Amino acid sequence: MFVTERWPETAYECGSCEALFDTAQEHALHCWDDHPWVPNPEQVRRRRHADE
Ligand SMILES: [Zn+2]
Repeated sequence: MFVTERWPETAYECGSCEALFDTAQEHALHCWDDHPWVPNPEQVRRRRHADE
């Protein structure tokens, strides 16, 4: 049986400040807090690589 990884394979990168988040929702909350003046914050999906 596979051990369930704590983090999903996909991370979300904030297009405005390059911060990484585990979920799209966390990213959205971050944007509202940190740069609410950005009307359409980019959200870049990234794959996590355990070795990086
Ligand atoms: Zn940001």
